[in-house]
Amino acid sequence: MGRMTASPGRRVLLAAPRGYCAGVDRAVIAVEKALEQYGAPVYVRHEIVHNKYVVQTLERKGAVFVERTEEVPEGNIVMFSAHGVAPVVHEEAARGRLATIDATCPLVTKVHKEAVRFAKEDYDILLIGHEGHEEVIGTSGEAPDHITLVDGPEDVAQVEVRDESKVVWLSQTTLSVDETMETVEALKEKFPQLISPPSDDICYATQNRQIAVKKLAEDAQLVIVVGSKNSSNSIRMVEVALDAGAPAAHLVDFASEIDEAWLEGVTTVGLTSGASVPDVLVEEVLEWLGARGYGDVETVKTAEESITFSLPKELRRDLREEAAALIADRTGTSAE
Ligand code: SF4
Repeated sequence: MGRMTASPGRRVLLAAPRGYCAGVDRAVIAVEKALEQYGAPVYVRHEIVHNKYVVQTLERKGAVFVERTEEVPEGNIVMFSAHGVAPVVHEEAARGRLATIDATCPLVTKVHKEAVRFAKEDYDILLIGHEGHEEVIGTSGEAPDHITLVDGPEDVAQVEVRDESKVVWLSQTTLSVDETMETVEALKEKFPQLISPPSDDICYATQNRQIAVKKLAEDAQLVIVVGSKNSSNSIRMVEVALDAGAPAAHLVDFASEIDEAWLEGVTTVGLTSGASVPDVLVEEVLEWLGARGYGDVETVKTAEESITFSLPKELRRDLREEAAALIADRTGTSAE
């Protein structure tokens, strides 16, 4: 435990909302419930959420993370991560005789459904997102012949479509809102008849965390974002903080990664965390800062969040069956 001190003038502005979104919370609980329900190992295809600490903690409990479906031995359970998978991955699992639990965030599934619908109507779909990101691979896989990836405004010049009167843009859920709008503007200039998705693809959690970090950037000389290097929404928060005028912003997985030199001349530190980050990691950073004179913590609240998602349906079904068996068992026992 660090010694908490407050040196005059030094303070921390703590963003709210920050950390876990509803999709991450659900995915992490799904792995824990599956482990309780079926015992270890539970195989998870790809990191369940992009956070080092979460992955390591679940590994200790018996989750086994794999990159390819073929790595899961026949007859086992495989869970799909919050980022979603292409239909071909469901086929691979069926071929490998695997039981599947799909922890894809419902807000990612929504984008998949939009892609399927527009592809059916024979639109060219311009998917704004980061090449190679798991979510983009999954969404593209829903309609590979109709989807073209647009990785930022600089990609627009080379985008081609079959029919300029039938073009729609969709996006990854965890992008920078401002940069995405820049890309959309550039696309609209090129394709004036481009239509927009029926509702926001960038999710509520990504949007709220970006609004909050912008607010921090108004006053903080240093913004610390807790999150992993492969977490799209966490990386975006660092970029958004810098764009909003923060003189410095850094991404750290753990308090131990903070460099004391960053604090030189800093009176106000802004602190927040990505959507895949448990709050215990933010608390550690608060302690670390407290031990260095930044014990005065002020919460800066820019939104209320109350959204939650129910567990994946495969787990709910099995949990219901288990509860029914338990009740039947108990009834049987008491009748004796
Ligand atoms: S960041 Fe958004 S899309 Fe991704 S899991 Fe969280 S709520 Fe779902």
